[in-house]
This record gives sequence, structure tokens and C-alpha cells, in this order.
Amino acid sequence: MSSNSDLSPETLAAHALGRIDQATGAIIPPIHPSTTFERDADLAYSRGRCYSRTDNPTYDTAADTLTALEGGKASLLFASGMAAATAVFQALEPGDHVIAPQVMYWALRAWLLGFASRWGLKIELVDTTDLVAVKAAFQPGKTKLVWLESPANPLWQVSDIAAIAELAHGAGARLAVDSTVATPVFTKPLSLGADIVMHSATKYLNGHSDVVAGSLTTGVIDEFWTRIKQVQGQIGGVLGPFEAWLLQRGLRTLFPRVRWQSATALDLAQRLAAHPKVSDVFYPGLPGFPGHELAKRQMQGGFGGMLSIRIKDGREASIAVAAKLTLWKRATSLGGVESLVEHRASIEGPTSPVPDDLLRLSVGLEAADDLYADLAQALGV
Ligand SMILES: *Cc1c(COP(=O)(O)O)cnc(C)c1O
Repeated sequence: MSSNSDLSPETLAAHALGRIDQATGAIIPPIHPSTTFERDADLAYSRGRCYSRTDNPTYDTAADTLTALEGGKASLLFASGMAAATAVFQALEPGDHVIAPQVMYWALRAWLLGFASRWGLKIELVDTTDLVAVKAAFQPGKTKLVWLESPANPLWQVSDIAAIAELAHGAGARLAVDSTVATPVFTKPLSLGADIVMHSATKYLNGHSDVVAGSLTTGVIDEFWTRIKQVQGQIGGVLGPFEAWLLQRGLRTLFPRVRWQSATALDLAQRLAAHPKVSDVFYPGLPGFPGHELAKRQMQGGFGGMLSIRIKDGREASIAVAAKLTLWKRATSLGGVESLVEHRASIEGPTSPVPDDLLRLSVGLEAADDLYADLAQALGV
């Protein structure tokens, strides 16, 4: 029997680290709904658990599997991706300067410009695909965190994690990466120099559109990580035990799901790029995409399951295309087994940087030909 350190990530994920429940011999881990844990007679907690607002044994399998897949030191599961991301920012001090991407997950950008700014963080949105712009944005002694998302929602821009990690560390700042779309199947930000990796586990990690969850994985156990844990424990953004259990189940099929979704996304991107009603296709796997060369270096074995298209005849035409789709479901979110389509600009409102003729496509596990046929009938010729 090999130790886990010899095993491939595919194997670690499929077995969720292969732990056997010591009490029963169960192959699949149990769910512990208990909110509270027994104290010793001398009031200590020798078994390490106290109360489920900070910790629950059901978290261990999913958290430790993620730590192994990301090559980190520890992971925390949160009640949502937003709870995970905002915990990182809340571990900073009011007055700290933060560099974040212009194009990023919309709800987090809104929180940074709203709540986080009122709370005192100095948020600076930068084109993080432009290293010169990133370098110029650092304020010596003040910049404490760089936040990246790669590929970034919903234009799938790719940012250079290794180069920006070097810039951040040179300036005494940390780098955190929202790797929701890349997943550990294609990118391991910690190995590229990032300090913290965040996921909306609602998306590919769980993968079945039936759990809202988030995660953080750290490359080092340090004072900043301890603060993040404290934020979580105090605010209580923890996952329910049943959701944590579903997440470990979803993680077992992460590799085959995401590879299939990525292969289909590339196929659809190529076919849509040749369609007369499509004016632009945003997908890091297309040779004409601005971040393609970087994506080839940074993403191992695929470019992800997300793409966006612009419709030649404008906003109303793009909404009409979405209306005619039958196999693709009109719904927000991404990374599930069923393909989803969304007109992002109408979701994000007037301050959105997203073109109003853009449709975001989340590719599921259906046959590529069925997905393309539905798009082709909706686009018309
Ligand atoms: C969905 C998403 C989030 C937010 O996660 P929730 O689980 O919905 O809170 C953050 N970043 C990205 C890239 C996402 O797709």
C-alpha cells in the first residue's frame, strides 16, 4: 500500500484520501450532525472538538482532500464562496490597500466596493492581465493583499499567478487566488507562489448544483491564517455537516467531470467561433484569445468548462437566443453537470463591464453534439 504522498491527485480525489471510519470500518465517512462535543472531566477537549460553529468532524474529508489536491497545508470549508472570500479580506486591517481585478466575480466586486470600502479597506481595481499596471498599483508598506481570479468571470481573462506572486511578495503583500473556474485539475496556485486559494465549492468542486459552499486553502499556517480561522469561528460562516458530506462525494468525481466539461467547452468554442451569428468567443483555449499563451503555461491539461459568446445582432438578439435554448437551462451559477446559459449584463446591472450582447455558457456533462445542436437552432443561420 502506497502512502498518499505517492498517489496521483486523481486517486486521492476518487478515494477522498481513502480513510476508513475507525469506529465502524465504513468505507464512506459518516455524517456528524452534532453541534457540540464532550468535554473531559478536567474540562479539556482532548479529542480536539468543542462546538460546530468552529469545527465539525464531517468537514475533515472534504477539507483534507482539498488540501492534498491544492498542495497546501490546511483548508477551511465555508457556508459559501462569498463567506470564504470575505473572510480573507476581514482578516486585514482597516486602511490596508488591496489590489483586485477589474473583471472578477460580480458579487465579490460589489462587496469590495461597498461594505469592504466602508469598513476601511482601500480597494484598487486593476487590469490584472497587465503586469505593468499591477506593478504600478503597489503602494509600498500599504498594499497587504492582491486578489486574483483566473480565468475571471465572465470574460475568462487569464492573469499570471507566478509573476504577480513575485510582485506581491516583493512588496510585502500576500496573494490570494479565486481558482473556482480553473479548479485544482488545471491549476495549482500555491505551487505558482500564491499564499491562499479560494473556491466557490458550489461550482466544480461539488459539481451537482445542490450545495452552496466555499473553501480556502493555505500554503502556510501563519498568523494571517489564524486570523481567517478566527473570523470564520466568530462570524459563523460554516458549512452544515450534510453539505460537507455531499461536497466530499462531489470531489470524488472532480477529475473526470472537469476534464469532460473542458473538452466539450473547447469543442463548442471552436465551432461557435465559426458561426456567422457569433461575433466573439471568449475561451482561454482558443489560439486567438489574448491570454491563450499564458493559459497554456499556467493551466495543465485543459482550459476549463466556461466560455462566453457575443451575439452579432446585439442585446435583444442575445436574450432571444437564450430564450430559444431548450437543453441549456437559463440559470445563474456554473460548474454543474447540466449546462447553463446566462445573459450576464442584465444580472450585473448598469455598472457591469460585461458587453450587453454576451451570453455566458457553463458546460455540463451532456454530449457536445446535443449542446451544439441546441445552440445552432437558437442562433439560427
Ligand atoms: C460563484 C462564485 C463565487 C461566489 O461563490 P458562492 O458559493 O456563490 O458564494 C466566487 N467566485 C467565483 C469565480 C464564482 O463563480
